[in-house]
Parts: sequence; C-alpha cells; structure tokens
Amino acid sequence: MVQLNNTMRKLPEIDPGVFLRKKPISILNRTRYGYLYDRYQFNERGSTLKKAIFLDRDGVLNEVLSDRGKFVNKPEQLYLLEGAAEAVAELTKAGYEIFVVTNQGGVGLGFLKERELKRIHERLQELVSVKGGHIKEVAYCPHKPKAGCECRKPNAGMLVDLAERHNLDLTKSIMAGDHERDIEAGKKAGCKTVFIGSGPTSADIQASSLFEAVEDILNMLK
Ligand SMILES: [Mg+2]
Ligand SMILES: [Zn+2]
Repeated sequence: MVQLNNTMRKLPEIDPGVFLRKKPISILNRTRYGYLYDRYQFNERGSTLKKAIFLDRDGVLNEVLSDRGKFVNKPEQLYLLEGAAEAVAELTKAGYEIFVVTNQGGVGLGFLKERELKRIHERLQELVSVKGGHIKEVAYCPHKPKAGCECRKPNAGMLVDLAERHNLDLTKSIMAGDHERDIEAGKKAGCKTVFIGSGPTSADIQASSLFEAVEDILNMLK
C-alpha cells in the first residue's frame, strides 16, 4: 500500500472517467510514488491520447456529383480527387491518425447495401495506401437522413465513438469537410475545423482542396 505524503496531495485531480477508459501505464513505470503518481503522470502527459484528423469522404477525398458519376454506390464508381491521396500521405507521414467520417444515408434509403459500402471503403483505403497514406478506419452513418441518429453529421457521434475507441484527444484534433454539417459536427466534438471549398463557412480555416489544406492543418496541429 502506498503511503500518502505531501507531494502526492498536491497532485491535481483527474477525471476518473478518463483514467478508467485507459490502460494504466503503471506496470512499466513504477516509481516510489507508486500508483497515484502513475495516475498523475498519465493525466499530465496525456501521452496516451493521440491527435487525429477526421476527414469527410465525398467532396474531400473523392468526387461526387461529377461527370464520371453522381453517387458512389459501387467501388468502381470511386474516383479520388486530385491530390487527395497525396494529402493523406503527407498527414500520415507527419504522424497523425487519420479517420474518415461519412454520412451514407443511401444505405438506409436502400441505394446500396452495407456490404457494398464496405467494399467501397476498402478501395478507398487501398487507393490511399498506394500513395503512402494510411486511413485507420472509415466510420459511416448508414441511417436514413431523417432518422434522428446521433451518428449522422452534424451530430458528433462518429467522432466521439472513434475518440473513445482509439484514445484520441478531440480538442487537439481536426475535422475537415466540404459541408457546414461537417464543420458543425467537428465543433460539437471540440475539434478544430477545416472547410474544403469556397465558403461561406464558420470553420477555423478554409482551403480549396485537401491538398491545399495540408500545410495549414499541420500548423494547426502543432
Ligand atoms: Mg462531403
Ligand atoms: Zn446514424
């Protein structure tokens, strides 16, 4: 049993919820302060919480409503936007975790099956990885647009869920999208926001494409 002493009493309070969700680092990091010191270090360093970049899919990574196809209902209908894969590669190289968060109401409406959507996302991840980028997970809301679910943007459900499962610090993360509902979702989650396209927008910053936004994104994450 560790004895309390004055040093330890000065340790800041931490949110027990945060601690309980994480794996303790105490085993590898024993000190004479023992368990409580580990808790302090855990909280203070925040080292287990990672910064993430959340990307909208349609209009940020791939074409939508373009000459080649209106909607992406099959893998072969997926065309990356110019520089998108290269942009993801740059962000990957910089060491950030990259996730896609996409509303896919077409599933709920019956335009495509979830199985097909997963194949589309496998292709997306593959096309990006060819250029050296890594998308850790593609989160999607398959519900009908008016279902009132927590996951469909502008709600923040997908971001919050990813943050819990992957130990992400939402306040140090970024959400980029080409629609105000992406920006709204990002803000609700506590993220910084990047609007892709021509405004008006309430986002923190704005760029004409993901590729053009890379430098600003990296600066914001510093
Ligand atoms: Mg979009
Ligand atoms: Zn949903």
